[in-house]
Amino acid sequence: MIADRLARPLGSLRVSVTDRCNLRCRYCMPEQEYVWLPKQSILTFEEIARLVEIFTALGVEKVRLTGGEPLLRHDLATLTGMLAKNPAIRDLALTTNGLLLARQADALKLAGLGRVTVSLDTLRPERMQALARSDRHADVLAGIATARRVGFALKLNTVVMRGVNEDELIELVEFARAHQAEVRFIEYMDVGGATGWSTDQVVSQREMLEQLSRHYGTITPVGSGEVAAPAERFRLPDGATFGIVASTTAPFCRTCDRSRLTADGTWFLCLYAERGIDLREPLRRGASDAELSDLIAATWRGRTDRGAEERLGVVNRAPLYQVDGLRADPHREMHTRGG
Ligand code: SAM
Ligand code: SF4
Ligand code: SF4
Repeated sequence: MIADRLARPLGSLRVSVTDRCNLRCRYCMPEQEYVWLPKQSILTFEEIARLVEIFTALGVEKVRLTGGEPLLRHDLATLTGMLAKNPAIRDLALTTNGLLLARQADALKLAGLGRVTVSLDTLRPERMQALARSDRHADVLAGIATARRVGFALKLNTVVMRGVNEDELIELVEFARAHQAEVRFIEYMDVGGATGWSTDQVVSQREMLEQLSRHYGTITPVGSGEVAAPAERFRLPDGATFGIVASTTAPFCRTCDRSRLTADGTWFLCLYAERGIDLREPLRRGASDAELSDLIAATWRGRTDRGAEERLGVVNRAPLYQVDGLRADPHREMHTRGG
């Protein structure tokens, strides 16, 4: 087990398999046009599986496939199957917007995927049109239903924005309950991509809890059982549970064991990091597993990142990047880093 300068282990890896997406969520991809990663730079399944093996040999136990929209990557079930053969992975999960989930859920389950998180910001189709420029709300619901039917443990992710969907918290808790899923409300973050972010649109964990307890009564915190879990979990008086990821108002960098590999093999130590480490170049130059492992281990040992905590100290906080900055380096985008 290797640890960084703040004694945080290298525990979990988010693997972005594509920077493309079939939605345009306002908090992530609000622009009309994007600069994409060049096709030839995208890692093959073999390259991804090899890097993941090197990471797991260094202690990574949790791997989450993400994107962009990961289900847009052709034949994702094949990559899932390759990763599922790696015995060091204790938890193999997927984060998806759900549009293509109904038709892929069976194959992913068969391939060995363990858990699925579906992003669901609203239960109202017309709101999805305004929020994500899509009229395919029914496909997301079908994806959720199919994922449950094939037996996946299911979480729902909701980014809560003032004036957009903060009036749907109770309905989303009830929807999750009806689908044997757990909803996690995420505070709107000023990450790359969120060029329209402002503090007044952030609905804080405190406000969410106030709103929910006005309706349900006393809400009790419950442990997640994991030191590095980003979501705080809560229980309603009737026993239903939900989570809140207070990444903006109460960040959890102290216990953060997560890093991110982009689809082109750039490794980021923090969601807010200015630069990543290019693993594709040594990989394609013919570096051995030992060389790649040494590079990853040495880099992690030097890690001091506390991006979200540092953002708390910014006076007149505004979006991390403007459009020009994102175009200059698409690695800064949330849809490239993988959320
Ligand atoms: N496309 C997939 C999806 O939406 O589930 C996976 C990639 S997406 C970048 C991963 C997560 O990042 C989603 O749950 C999304 O809601 C979250 N996200 C993106 N931008 C965000 C922002 N500005 N603030 C908070 N969460 C954000
Ligand atoms: Fe929305 Fe995920 Fe696509 Fe970003 S990557 S626009 S969060 S669906
Ligand atoms: Fe981890 Fe960086 Fe997020 Fe903090 S801001 S929790 S260090 S990824």
